[in-house]
Amino acid sequence: MVVVAATLASLGQSVVAAPSQQSTVREFELGRSTEGRPITAWRFGDGPRKLVLASNTHGFPEANTYTLAMLLIEHFRADPTLVPASVRLYIIPSLNPDGLALGSRFNARGVDLNRNMNTNLDACPENDWQVTVQGAYGIVSDTGGAYADSEVESQLIRDFLVDASAVIFFHSNAGNVFPAACEHAPSIALAQAYAAGSNYAYARRWEPYNITGGMHDWAGSLDIAAIIPEFITGDLPEFEENLGGVLAVLASAEELVPLPRERAVLGIALPEPIWRFWRMHGGYEHFGRPLAPAETDAAGVTRQHFTNVVLELDPARRDTLAYVRALPLGIAATPRAFTLLPTPADARIFEATGAPLYGAFATVWQRAGGERVFGPPVSEEYEARAADGARRVMQQFERAVFAYYPEDNTVRLEPLGWHDFVRTRLDAAMTRHSFQ
Ligand SMILES: [Zn+2]
Repeated sequence: MVVVAATLASLGQSVVAAPSQQSTVREFELGRSTEGRPITAWRFGDGPRKLVLASNTHGFPEANTYTLAMLLIEHFRADPTLVPASVRLYIIPSLNPDGLALGSRFNARGVDLNRNMNTNLDACPENDWQVTVQGAYGIVSDTGGAYADSEVESQLIRDFLVDASAVIFFHSNAGNVFPAACEHAPSIALAQAYAAGSNYAYARRWEPYNITGGMHDWAGSLDIAAIIPEFITGDLPEFEENLGGVLAVLASAEELVPLPRERAVLGIALPEPIWRFWRMHGGYEHFGRPLAPAETDAAGVTRQHFTNVVLELDPARRDTLAYVRALPLGIAATPRAFTLLPTPADARIFEATGAPLYGAFATVWQRAGGERVFGPPVSEEYEARAADGARRVMQQFERAVFAYYPEDNTVRLEPLGWHDFVRTRLDAAMTRHSFQ
């Protein structure tokens, strides 16, 4: 990793750099691929409008998209002032370094990363995630992954885009530019501008076959402007064309890369990254409803209570995959009276905590975001009184408590956010009272 120049602005709220200040230019590691190869990003600028160029989802057969990204990085390093002050531009050279190294379109587990995303949140059922997918040339195969967002590479781009306003996914080679499939005006505007700047043809949709679980469709469903430019050739980086497209987007960033804005859920305002995190990890089903507006402390950390979690947005974690995360309320949520249940021999044991994970809890934990959302298990399964008053099978995780409801075969989270909400407000009231 090379830190060329870092300013305090990279750690704080967006700051419009004065002309004398140097804007941020730096490379950093976002995470690792299935086989442990680094997935890196370059960042240019400090503005509030986050634009991401994500290349090489399809590995080796689309290596020209990797080459393009490297050329763009060189170009913007040579002249970072090409990025307007209101923009933060990120370039990810390869989302699939294993595929690139191994000569494959797929990741190291044989999954097509552009068929693995949770595309079930938009209004278009035809693009919903599926195991059986149509890949290059429409070839049908079971390469959608075991479940939506099952791959570390998919999870990485999902979590990195939580505060993005626009994203461009480079592919080759069909020679056109198309937006998220489900009607999404910001994606359509972005695709049209990119087509005009690059001289690629604009296409309202990808016609040759149906794409399920696509990254662009996933992003569009979270109101991130998302497009796919398809290069004309399978081997050239088509630098001039794509630089033209990127510069056209930067020139109209005020319209095409909108400022983050608050979102209303049940009449309560949510900061955009918190809204996206809540929505992409199960919304009402796992986290419950927002209880109150978000609050920001003196250090600039924003927290918002939901029924089952407290979500925290920390500017110090910007440019990491944990920009938004749940507070670790599960650790202290030990019930008063409980009966430990025997752990089956085949349970997965977590080294860090010594706690097991198996059965229905393992399935929900894994599919709803795993360690990054819930943390590791910190107890064995036990029987205790759940929030509804019934004795249930339960388990503590670092950031949640799970309870099993056999009557409808569901796993629900205990209302730890609600408990914290009541306790913090009671504490505040007591403090006020004692000083009167
Ligand atoms: Zn592709």
